[in-house]
Amino acid sequence: MVLTDTHTHQYYESDPAKKAELMQRCLDNGVSRLFLPNVDSGTIALIEGMVNTYPQNCFAMLGLHPCDVKESWQQELDTIYAALQRTKVYAIGEIGIDLYWDKTFIAEQQQAFRQQIAWAKAADLPIVIHCREAFTEVYEILQQEQDEKLRGIFHCFSGTLEQAQQVIDLGFVLGIGGVVTYKNAGLDKVVQQIDLKHLVLETDSPYLTPVPYRGKPNESSYLVHIAQKVADLHQTSLEEVARITTANSKLVFGV
Ligand SMILES: [Zn+2]
Repeated sequence: MVLTDTHTHQYYESDPAKKAELMQRCLDNGVSRLFLPNVDSGTIALIEGMVNTYPQNCFAMLGLHPCDVKESWQQELDTIYAALQRTKVYAIGEIGIDLYWDKTFIAEQQQAFRQQIAWAKAADLPIVIHCREAFTEVYEILQQEQDEKLRGIFHCFSGTLEQAQQVIDLGFVLGIGGVVTYKNAGLDKVVQQIDLKHLVLETDSPYLTPVPYRGKPNESSYLVHIAQKVADLHQTSLEEVARITTANSKLVFGV
């Protein structure tokens, strides 16, 4: 069984021994493909380090997280763009709009999002979208930017069935994480109604820990619990969910 964690920040673990333990637990649970989204200029080296240590299992992305679009956002973009010239990446991410924490830089967030979509198109790469309390704003930009090149993952999807359909119609797949295991989130009922061909799996570790580990730090090996939940919802096997969602991830990332 090959499970693909399409969104993990496991590179935040700095202790080499703990890092090796985390990776071993991933492999023990069939989670052998990890895609690493970038956050800001400070995380580039962490991602490059992890990809160099585990070249068979880890795949890099680069991008500026919307929560880090602040006063020096253009400088941040310059640094990330420079890294793009030397690092092999499989997506531009994570990028998007987040109005949950702070609306001060909404115009800059929109501008940075568009700028990075342009990078993705120029390099023929998918994008990995972070969207929080900003579906209308993100959707508007995706509609305007839609063409044969625009594609990718709507990370940590937790919207309605209608929003899911809108995102799918634009050529995106939905990243499903720990929220699907939360009793009152309602995402389980949405996921149940979406064909598996539109889904990829993710942990967003160390955040959004799935049941039964909720309350503890998340890790990519827990992806198996998310996959099992999706399998239960679709009345199929864990292996089938692994097979389909890993195939979907290969279509998106080209690896
Ligand atoms: Zn993330």
